[in-house]
Amino acid sequence: MPISAPSSFGIYIHVPFCKQACSYCDFYFVTKTDLLQSYIDRLLDEIDFTLKTFANGRKLQTIYFGGGTPSRLDLFNLDRIISRIDAIVGLEHVAEITFEANPDDIQKEYLLGLKKIGITRLSMGVQSFDPGLLKFMNRAHTSDEAKNSIQLIHDVGFKTFTCDLIYGNPNQSLKSLKQDIDTLLSFNPPHVSAYALTIEPGTRLGKYHQLGRLNPLEDDMVVEHMNTVSDTFKEHGIFRYEVSNFARVGHESVHNSNYWNHTPYLGLGPGAHSMDYKTDSAGKILGGFRSNNAPDLKKYCSGALQNISEVEQLSPEQMAEERLLMGLRTRDGVTMNELRNRYGYELNERQVEWIKTTEKINLNESISISNENLAVADHIILELISRR
Ligand code: SF4
Repeated sequence: MPISAPSSFGIYIHVPFCKQACSYCDFYFVTKTDLLQSYIDRLLDEIDFTLKTFANGRKLQTIYFGGGTPSRLDLFNLDRIISRIDAIVGLEHVAEITFEANPDDIQKEYLLGLKKIGITRLSMGVQSFDPGLLKFMNRAHTSDEAKNSIQLIHDVGFKTFTCDLIYGNPNQSLKSLKQDIDTLLSFNPPHVSAYALTIEPGTRLGKYHQLGRLNPLEDDMVVEHMNTVSDTFKEHGIFRYEVSNFARVGHESVHNSNYWNHTPYLGLGPGAHSMDYKTDSAGKILGGFRSNNAPDLKKYCSGALQNISEVEQLSPEQMAEERLLMGLRTRDGVTMNELRNRYGYELNERQVEWIKTTEKINLNESISISNENLAVADHIILELISRR
């Protein structure tokens, strides 16, 4: 049977440099910049070493610069990275190039430069406009810098952009959240990613929590925050299309939607993940893999590129459950045809019976979580998967 592969893919580039450590953050980053130039050289090597083989004739559809803080990079180096990708696979089919930035890095000239080198979508790490909360989160920017950066995005003419917002902070009142939302709405954002604060072990907040110096916001208050976020955005035409993502129609993130629908992606840089799979000629998945670059900048800059990745094989069933898990977090859910034809996966009787007894899941030609329950999607999905 001939083996084929999907027709498009994305690239994720992890830029692991941050000005300072935010108190809640457990992403991979460093605050020193001594290895920055060496990182750029290795990243270009990694592009040379992996991109053509990974692409395997497929079309590059999206690029995502995430971090860390991509806006710690200068325009010259960003141009080198994008030009190198262009030289190897071409950018003619690219629908979206997203670039994460922090407000304190944003100047008009920098934004104009990003536009010139092909960035189409800015992702601004706002989190809050409340000076007290920004301090609590140890963000490097002020409230005014956050406002100015969004205004500059408009001035420079980016047609689409997104802002990150964090709610559910300890002691955060509903009034303060509403003020954050109102301020954000005054800039008419086409897309917002809103996350409940989670207190992760190993972060500064995690340590405070362990020492008993910090109590998370009560669950019912977090739910109230969550509902306030989704209801208010909805009233302003910004609709939830994934648990944490809200967009005006046509401004949904292509790159992130591709993660959720299992479009392959190549991860570059320390801490980045890749995912790919093979299909038969009918498009049925035969098996896939996920590989992880070690979250270790020193190793990345000094080691052989062949040795930085760990690979995990994925069976069609594992991939089906992953697709179900990610798809149920989205407004569209997953069609039964896709589960059947792409993964050879059927829900079992116990799952179907359980779905019939709960009113939280819609099941017909597709399976999806009703909109008012999307906020608790993870809990519902666990219930469903545990009946396997
Ligand atoms: S800027 Fe982003 S990646 Fe860096 S520490 Fe803060 S939240 Fe984490």
